[in-house]
Amino acid sequence: MCKTEYLPGQVTYTCPRDGGNLDVELDYDTIRQKFQPGDLTSRSEGSLWRYLPLLPVPDPGGEGTPLRAAGWTPVFTLKRLAEKLGLERVWLKDESRNPTASFKDRASAVVVARAREIGAEVIVTASTGNAGAALAGMCAAVGQKAVIFAPKSAPPAKVAQLLVFGAKVILVDGTYDEAFDLTIQAAQEFGWYCRNTGYNPFTAEGKKTGALEIWEWYHQIKDGMVKNGEAPSEAPLTVFVSVGDGNIIAGIHKGFKDLMALGWMEKMPRIIGVQAEGSAAIANAFEAGTEKIIPISAQTIADSISVDLPRDGVRAVRAARETGGTYIRVSDDEILQAIAALGPLGIFAEPAGATAYAGLVKAAKQGVVKAGDPILVLNTGSGLKDVGAAMKAVSAALVIEPTLEAVKRIL
Ligand SMILES: *Cc1c(COP(=O)(O)O)cnc(C)c1O
Repeated sequence: MCKTEYLPGQVTYTCPRDGGNLDVELDYDTIRQKFQPGDLTSRSEGSLWRYLPLLPVPDPGGEGTPLRAAGWTPVFTLKRLAEKLGLERVWLKDESRNPTASFKDRASAVVVARAREIGAEVIVTASTGNAGAALAGMCAAVGQKAVIFAPKSAPPAKVAQLLVFGAKVILVDGTYDEAFDLTIQAAQEFGWYCRNTGYNPFTAEGKKTGALEIWEWYHQIKDGMVKNGEAPSEAPLTVFVSVGDGNIIAGIHKGFKDLMALGWMEKMPRIIGVQAEGSAAIANAFEAGTEKIIPISAQTIADSISVDLPRDGVRAVRAARETGGTYIRVSDDEILQAIAALGPLGIFAEPAGATAYAGLVKAAKQGVVKAGDPILVLNTGSGLKDVGAAMKAVSAALVIEPTLEAVKRIL
């Protein structure tokens, strides 16, 4: 990365000099002069827009629409599962509660705000499904036009979302990576504004709002511990994130870095990336001690993190390396087991959503996390997105004749 700096109007996507992804730099001094943390955390806005002063976009409006409902997702305790893993303090932030049921709404909401600011008429994105559904949904909320390129193999529920939200849907007979490159060409050709993950610097800015919420939530948890006479853990919060392109983990890291730069957070959380064994280009680079991402031929049941060439690999490696974190790989079987483990707590995750929890199970076994460590796992997407995979995680329901005798026989 060449460290060249540009003004907002000078660049739209990646660095013209070296092609790297761009980081948005905030004016930390001005923010610090104008705001105290309490000015944000006391806001009544129950969405990611409560953090508007830390976002590089103006207020997009859209009151009373789903655009105003992205983010601000609940955190659940995983007490019963934690005990089984020999852990004490484990929580899950459930991103399936976003308006289109995945973490991607955060990025799409902020990209839509940017599109409105620059007067873009059409927004386009490549997607394995969720980014497209999120863009289609956020655009629909405010009457903006969306074009989505997705691989033909995307799960039907995700394609249904795209169509129902009224986007122009183009299914590509190829991989996500091919759809990605095609989208960039189409955007240039037709003058569309391109949301592609990582390529558009505003996606990470949207995703960082997950970290801002974690910061606000964890403050309350620690206050609660003090009130209960418990000593808050000395260990930093450990956050588990599933990783495909690497933009969520990079965005989470960026959010924490912003808070550190403002002096609003004492301790940088430890960020652990979890990849599917069959789609682990970033874990490969992390373990090799480099930032050079070598493409692979991805294969995993977790379609949302099935990526040949991760588009935010460098920053994704750094998110773990610069926070004392690491990368963990899990098999498709372990991902399915994670879906089955979370379900009985009332949490329904798609494979890529359950991947972070599968990583925690492995990390606990390997001693990467210790009993008293405070741990937050992200569920990035809803199980309703891919019921085919969900059915593989559980045994089939029993079918009987409609008689009481038959009921007795099976009980
Ligand atoms: C996109 C996505 C991810 C991974 O995010 P990246 O930025 O590609 O690393 C994980 N889980 C779900 C459900 C997703 O949709």
